[in-house]
Amino acid sequence: MTWKWCAGTRAFVGLGSNLDEPARQIEAAIGRLQRIPGTRVGARSSLYRSAPFGPIAQPDYVNAVVMLRTRRTPRELLEQMQTIERELGRTAGERWGPRRIDLDLLVFGDETVEEDGLKVPHPGIAERNFVLLPLSELAPDLSIPGLGRLAGIPVNHTEPRIERIA
Ligand code: ADP
Ligand code: MG
Repeated sequence: MTWKWCAGTRAFVGLGSNLDEPARQIEAAIGRLQRIPGTRVGARSSLYRSAPFGPIAQPDYVNAVVMLRTRRTPRELLEQMQTIERELGRTAGERWGPRRIDLDLLVFGDETVEEDGLKVPHPGIAERNFVLLPLSELAPDLSIPGLGRLAGIPVNHTEPRIERIA
């Protein structure tokens, strides 16, 4: 038996919301992540407020990242995350549009997954300040498969606009 089996794999989940009291949606989602069987939330970042990107005018987002340990597989974890999105009232067809909650599996140990409906590390990490900033709070020494050291990925602090709020 290895320690990996006992403790599970270290994974990072990105959270975002821009509808219906976003900070409250983020807290509710973290509470539910904590209750996924075989999973423990170890740390959470500050909350950030970020300007939306993409073609649709919509409210600012609140974003955060949590670090967890899980004995689930990446696919099982994604399914649990999608259940939480549904339970919190996310409706389908909102790509680029406003959403009550968005949960992205950012990093899963040192694993790379390239399947239909599941890409890990999440393909948007390097372009998203609202991921890079909270992720570096939690794990400044993180090395991401395919991207290398987190500290080596440039952050644009001004565009799109982002600020730490709590
Ligand atoms: P985004 O998070 O890029 O704004 P959506 O949340 O609307 O986009 O996209 C959800 C889709 O992305 C789901 O169908 C899911 O299967 C897929 N997907 C692929 N890889 C991941 C991942 N690492 N984390 C979350 N969803 C993922
Ligand atoms: Mg998503």
